[in-house]
Amino acid sequence: MNTLSGLHHVTAICSDAQKNLDFYCGTLGLRLVKLTVNFDDPFAYHLYYGDELGRPGTVLTFFAWSGGAPAQHGNRVVAATAFAVPVGALEWWKTHLTSKNIEWTTPPARWGEEVIQFHDFDGLVLEIIATPRAESGFAWENGAVPAQYAIRGFHSVTIAAEGYEHTAQLLGGAMGFRNAETPSLLEPHRFRFEVGQGIGGVVDVACLPDAPRATTGAGGVHHVAFRVADGAAQTRFRVELVRAGFNASPVMDRSYFHSIYFREPGGVLFEIATDSPGFAVDESVERLGSMLQLPSQLERYRAQIEARLPPLQLPSS
Ligand code: ZN
Repeated sequence: MNTLSGLHHVTAICSDAQKNLDFYCGTLGLRLVKLTVNFDDPFAYHLYYGDELGRPGTVLTFFAWSGGAPAQHGNRVVAATAFAVPVGALEWWKTHLTSKNIEWTTPPARWGEEVIQFHDFDGLVLEIIATPRAESGFAWENGAVPAQYAIRGFHSVTIAAEGYEHTAQLLGGAMGFRNAETPSLLEPHRFRFEVGQGIGGVVDVACLPDAPRATTGAGGVHHVAFRVADGAAQTRFRVELVRAGFNASPVMDRSYFHSIYFREPGGVLFEIATDSPGFAVDESVERLGSMLQLPSQLERYRAQIEARLPPLQLPSS
């Protein structure tokens, strides 16, 4: 049963909201589709980037927490987040990143797809992969990157795991992914799982038993969310999770989607998020990301919240 249809969003931690905006809009050419606060910590920004609409499968979000310790890389986390670009676009990206003084490397190609890897200013590991999957995604056409090269959403995440079997069992069982490829000689510890043919349909599990345990902080991924069509499918999936022995949270209203959370056996925090209602629920598509949006329970504290948040220079479009 294919319960889930790929990645919904990835949420990471950054140390500086303005630098974050400048990098993800100005350098990577994503659209700021929502500026809000962390609903559980309303004096911290929550920034959402994506394609024009912030379609599920394109959305990278950040909690902006200044002053915290940086993340330590290791296992039990999402170790890399990969964007999809059209086949043939990587040469442009290499030149572009170099022109912005961002160092990049080329890890071994993965099952025939070329990869470049680099870091944001906090050290978050990012990848750009040239893939036919990009054809099913949409470029943000008014962004800083020419549309023919622009990011079309996620290609994949790589989970760094101490072991492999239990995470594989969950992905290939209740979550409906297929174990897609035989590990290559160049990366014998990377296992690929796929669902669908489009963007956000890939999860790699890299088995790194000797790596230290990662710690969260700026430059680290906080959680990864997977797509479920609607609340009914989410409830069915939750029942299945609980039956399988997982502690799943109750359904939470995140304004732009509804979510449940649980920790997968390898230690990564997973979220299951609905495709609807989406980001146009509180501002028009044209004006997405143009002002601070607060959920109704926080609106009455707007003055206090705005007074404590650092001012931001938003992108012009
Ligand atoms: Zn989330």
